[in-house]
Amino acid sequence: MRFHLEASLRLSADAGAAEKAISDFIRDAGPILEKGAPEGQGAKITEWRLAKNRIDLVIDSDRYVRAHDALLRLRRPLSELLGKQYRIGVRGMDVTAFEIEVESDREIAHRIPYVREMRHEGGRLRLILDVGEGGTLGQSEIENRIPDRIVSLLEEKLEKGYGGKTEHWELLWESEKREPKFRADPTEEMQKAGWIKHGSARGQWIYGPQATHLFRTFEAIVLEEIIGPLGYQEMIFPKLDTWDVWKKSGHAQGVYPEIYFVCPPKTRDPAFWEEVMDYYKVTHEVPLELVKEKIDLPIGGMCYAQCPTFWGFLQGMTLPNGELPMRVFDRSGTSHRYESGGIHGIERVDEFHRIEIVWLGTKEHTLEEAEKLKGCYKHIFEDILELTWRTAWVTPWFMAQEGKTGLSEMTGAGTVDYEAILPYNGNWIEFQNLSVNGEKYPKGFTVKAQSGEALWSGCSGVGLERWASAFLSQKGLDPSNWPEEFRRRFGEMPKGIRFL
Ligand code: ATP
Ligand code: ZN
Ligand code: MG
Ligand code: MG
Ligand code: MG
Repeated sequence: MRFHLEASLRLSADAGAAEKAISDFIRDAGPILEKGAPEGQGAKITEWRLAKNRIDLVIDSDRYVRAHDALLRLRRPLSELLGKQYRIGVRGMDVTAFEIEVESDREIAHRIPYVREMRHEGGRLRLILDVGEGGTLGQSEIENRIPDRIVSLLEEKLEKGYGGKTEHWELLWESEKREPKFRADPTEEMQKAGWIKHGSARGQWIYGPQATHLFRTFEAIVLEEIIGPLGYQEMIFPKLDTWDVWKKSGHAQGVYPEIYFVCPPKTRDPAFWEEVMDYYKVTHEVPLELVKEKIDLPIGGMCYAQCPTFWGFLQGMTLPNGELPMRVFDRSGTSHRYESGGIHGIERVDEFHRIEIVWLGTKEHTLEEAEKLKGCYKHIFEDILELTWRTAWVTPWFMAQEGKTGLSEMTGAGTVDYEAILPYNGNWIEFQNLSVNGEKYPKGFTVKAQSGEALWSGCSGVGLERWASAFLSQKGLDPSNWPEEFRRRFGEMPKGIRFL
């Protein structure tokens, strides 16, 4: 990896009188430019020139002290030298050329911000950055480490290679194989039995009284076996996530292909919309192109992961030691994902229902709470639902979002997927998960503990459609085949809605 930077330091006055001092400074700048790098590595000033009230510099470097870092390192001592002895200030920096080279056996065909040109030559990818004022790479971009982000992005793209890495999956535990009571597709059977009907949107269902009662029974089990005994408090999390929330939660890095975007009207003035209304009244069609002109840019998207909006409640706060660990949950609304071709029955839908359990505290609290939850879940799936199920250690969502797949970057954080077999097709589905997210959320939303200790958090999403898929595909729709304990909790089957 190489960096080539041409930049100038703008001075408050002609520094002719200081030329010798500057020359000496640059001659002796080696230690500043190599600090932290292995022996013989780091950045070098390959050319420099004093042009009255400007010092022009050419800096070449490797990956250890990147050229733009070197420039930032030089600014302070040079300011001190010129200020103290010559009363000259360093006013700012102008970048006139910036190139980055990375080793690569291939080209990449992506548009990257600030990159004007990308060439693949001699086993290297050469990036020529757009420099200067006005939206291009200048002082503030250097101070904000934009070049480093460009390099990380590039490395991520090169590492992904063709086809992408597969996610990590490692079996943790497996239940006994319970003989299935049923071998049909539960979605089809529920449709036949009048428990559910397709909604008008893709991947959306209308749940009739029987299916709804099944969901509510699952909820009641979670309340009785987890929420109550472990002391979780119910909250209502917003279901529209703004970009601001997703920037802090990390979802802004990669969630785009799967979200339902939300656009407000450009104005609430009925006159502005009259054209649309009139068109509809005459044609009975909604003029979508016209609507598109009259709505604003998306402000975010519909609930995707359920817990990010909760963190606004804690944002910027310090939590008293006595309040930790904190335990809350939400079951106040739907989640929405654009699942594309992947939708199938109620197993993979675009609109789904989840209970989201969130906890936070010190690292110890958080890991300990995760173990308690795992204990409760095991009891539910073994003794109440009697499923054939297993758990696996997988790439956590927050790393998948960022395109990382290895587990080496974690220190106790991670995700456990709960999977159940679907006897009708032999596939395993993830019916819920449990994640320890490390410091991700408290850091993203600047939440602190009174003790000063690092805060960790965890969350677990109980997917009701997935629980239903797992349970019904193994046990069928007939309560007489259901485990005794579940049947007791379910009570009487609602009579449902009949048609002529
Ligand atoms: P999958 O691997 O099946 O796509 P996911 O890993 O994307 O699921 P998470 O982001 O971990 O899902 O969401 C937590 C839980 O939400 C899942 O374990 C599942 O119970 C539920 N869930 C996620 N996506 C869907 C969906 N499209 N339909 C129904 N339930 C879903
Ligand atoms: Zn969550
Ligand atoms: Mg998914
Ligand atoms: Mg998954
Ligand atoms: Mg998951």
